[in-house]
Amino acid sequence: MKIAVVGTGYVGLVAGTCFAESGNDVTCVDVDQAKIELLRAGKVPIYEPGLEELIKRNVEEERLKFTTNLGEAVKRSLICFICVGTPPKADGAPDLKYVLGAAADIAKAMDGYRIVVMKSTVPVGTADKIRGVMKAATDHEFDVVSNPEFLKEGAAVEDFLKPDRVVIGAGDVRCAAIMKELYSPFVRTGNPILTMDNRSAELTKYAANALLAARISFMNEVANLAELVGADVNDVRQGVGSDARIGHSFLFPGVGYGGSCFPKDVDALGHTAKEHGYDFKILTATNAVNREQKRILFKKAHDYFKGDLKGRKIAVWGLAFKPRTDDMREAPSIDTVSALLEHGARVRAFDPIARDTARKIFGDRIEYAKKQYDALEGAEALLIITEWNEFRRPDFERMKALMARPVIFDGRNLYDPKRTAALGFEYSGIGVRGPSPSETAGK
Ligand code: NAD
Repeated sequence: MKIAVVGTGYVGLVAGTCFAESGNDVTCVDVDQAKIELLRAGKVPIYEPGLEELIKRNVEEERLKFTTNLGEAVKRSLICFICVGTPPKADGAPDLKYVLGAAADIAKAMDGYRIVVMKSTVPVGTADKIRGVMKAATDHEFDVVSNPEFLKEGAAVEDFLKPDRVVIGAGDVRCAAIMKELYSPFVRTGNPILTMDNRSAELTKYAANALLAARISFMNEVANLAELVGADVNDVRQGVGSDARIGHSFLFPGVGYGGSCFPKDVDALGHTAKEHGYDFKILTATNAVNREQKRILFKKAHDYFKGDLKGRKIAVWGLAFKPRTDDMREAPSIDTVSALLEHGARVRAFDPIARDTARKIFGDRIEYAKKQYDALEGAEALLIITEWNEFRRPDFERMKALMARPVIFDGRNLYDPKRTAALGFEYSGIGVRGPSPSETAGK
């Protein structure tokens, strides 16, 4: 099949590449000239495991092309995916100007029937808006499909090639059949392709993300309570997750969720509810809990040093919003590091991949360690924000030798509190039982 993918970011680049990998002829379009030039030069603008080699192979096989010329891409394609960004506006509603702009541009370039597939995350009713914008710009026939994307950054290629499910919202049976054929190579193990109407497909994406976000906030509150009542959230998590109705995933407490999706999608769903006169209370609470949780490591460090962080060297491990990505959009590290800086701390951070992204955010207000252990030199505390694999089994003796004080605030519960205590560290995780650093402060 001939496919145009409009918007070559995390979603568009992965989707376009994976469609090419299954034999389709794909043209990826972006308005960002520099991005397209980079891709044409064989360089990948984002970090995503496995993506670079897939792009290389499909470009060599001439199934994957990159262009800034949307008109040309639309003319040679039957299916046009819209994968542009939907950033939040001040009131929480997603800004649809890129989506509607792309739809209008596709309509203007059409020279016959096209299937326009909405892959960006968009509020209920957007497919109707797209129809309106397109009808005003073309006399040719078209169908609008809502096909939300569920990939996770850090495992995007794998998720796309082996989705748990594919959701296709389409009013027209023929075009739904074409979409099913396009996706059939990815669901050979029997995972479902679910067809439904546009509105249900649009709502499915928000409901899934909001439910996951709520689960995270819920467990973060359980962890905070566990600390107060002297329970251990790791035991609670296993006890709760062993219930087949609940399951073990997404029960890990931490420093709050970030990324380009959960925060904005929770807000957007709340906004949709409000527009329809409905107060979606769980969403408000999910958001509020998360905002506080993002500052939890800062608060722990602040309490430990009795409010006096001025001039103290603080080491940070992990800046990306999650492992295996360079993405820092809405990352808890931004809240944590900003709060440390506001209180006069000197921050030296290490992240295996997100250093360049971090530089754009913090500039020279923090130091960037090239290696994991370099961040620790002379530090009075280490804050662990992202659970990169390389942080899981560190050389504790080396850490202790490098640090001015062996104090760890672990936002991802990577270490056993008793073991770290036995090794001579003051350790505080999230909701796990162990000697609290604030109890032993000054010893
Ligand atoms: P992104 O910011 O990485 O990429 C968007 C791209 O679209 C940019 O390269 C931008 O230059 C380009 N663009 C904007 N307007 C354009 C136009 N008119 N024509 C061509 N290109 C244009 O965004 P993303 O993370 O890929 O997210 C895209 C959408 O997918 C969002 O709605 C997001 O919520 C959703 N989504 C994202 C993820 C994720 O993990 N990142 C997962 C599922 C769904």
